[in-house]
Amino acid sequence: PTGRRPLMAGNWKMNLNHLEAIALTQKLAFSLTEKQLSDVEVVVLPPFVDLRSVQTLIDGDKLLLGYGAQDLSPHVSGAYTGDVSGGMLAKLGCQYVVVGHSERRAYHHEDDALVAAKVKAALTNDITPILCVGEGLEVREAGNHVAHTVGQLDAALKGLKSDQVEKVVVAYEPIWAIGTGKTATPEDAQEVIGALRGRLAERHGNTADRVRILYGGSVKANNIAAIMAQPDVDGALVGGASINAEEFVRICRYQE
Ligand code: PEP
Repeated sequence: PTGRRPLMAGNWKMNLNHLEAIALTQKLAFSLTEKQLSDVEVVVLPPFVDLRSVQTLIDGDKLLLGYGAQDLSPHVSGAYTGDVSGGMLAKLGCQYVVVGHSERRAYHHEDDALVAAKVKAALTNDITPILCVGEGLEVREAGNHVAHTVGQLDAALKGLKSDQVEKVVVAYEPIWAIGTGKTATPEDAQEVIGALRGRLAERHGNTADRVRILYGGSVKANNIAAIMAQPDVDGALVGGASINAEEFVRICRYQE
């Protein structure tokens, strides 16, 4: 009874062409009831090239699924070959965009300043950023995971007012748990997510109670319920398991 609606977001990463994207989206919509989709918000995050097809299907058939992108440019428009702007995503009806995923931080050298600029670009276009934060194995083993992750949160939200922070979704994704089959324990997830909410409360008061904070990292149908039972966990950002319709549907039905 936190008043925060649970959110299950499927990060497809670089998987599925637009035809496969349509098939998966249809399967999800038809496997979940209206009641299930009102209790839990279910969002798909396909590759850019799939978005138009997914949007046409979801809007055309009035499916109760949300959709968004995996990244955006911090710039409005111009000579940025290969990039996609927040304005383009907003025009396509995207409600969400992933920002600061550890794979982008690692393979595209995205630093905190760029991540903060992307958060701003999303908000400017009325798109909810799903801001990813989380520590690597070395930081965890040194016991610095809370400070590291809270520091990433501070950097990404720098300069934002509380009414903007309220529109952000945060995802705690320990890098050592992403795609590795090594899930954080529910207590590990709660420790950091509780600390993130505590920091939001320090900086933004009651707004912290309204911000949804997700866990991500090898979420599967068989571990989601225990993670969701933690008081500060409001949902999950699901990678690998989100491109398997049956598995993702079971994750979305974690309450049953
Ligand atoms: C992710 O990519 O955000 C993620 C959590 O991946 P996985 O579920 O595959 O660990």
